[in-house]
Amino acid sequence: MINEIRISRLDIGMIQQELESNKPYEACGVLTGTINGSTALVEKALPVTNVNRTRASFELDPKQFYNAWNEAEKIGSEIVGVYHTHPASSAVPSLWDRMTMENDLMVWVIAGVDGMRAYIWDNGIKPVKINEY
Ligand SMILES: [Zn+2]
Repeated sequence: MINEIRISRLDIGMIQQELESNKPYEACGVLTGTINGSTALVEKALPVTNVNRTRASFELDPKQFYNAWNEAEKIGSEIVGVYHTHPASSAVPSLWDRMTMENDLMVWVIAGVDGMRAYIWDNGIKPVKINEY
């Protein structure tokens, strides 16, 4: 089970900027990289259009998601996680998030008004430590 996610300072800054520039709506994207044991290493964070643009939910554009997956696969990487923003609430999974996360294998990074946190589904929602590199 993944309990640590490493994200570059640059990508963390980009996600924070996405949070600000998409207010009052949620922004979302994918995190591509590699998984090594219990650590997910993010090589690239990529913004993806939120096709369900509301203040309290998101849905990754399926075509862009597929393209990101395809590009990652070409260089031997994979999609290790997704990120989305909570422009008006804390970085805690909403009820909608919880239902969507169930049985999802990816790390979920949430950028909220109180900072950034990460989670993964493993018989319930478990915290994942974010380490900046
Ligand atoms: Zn959410």
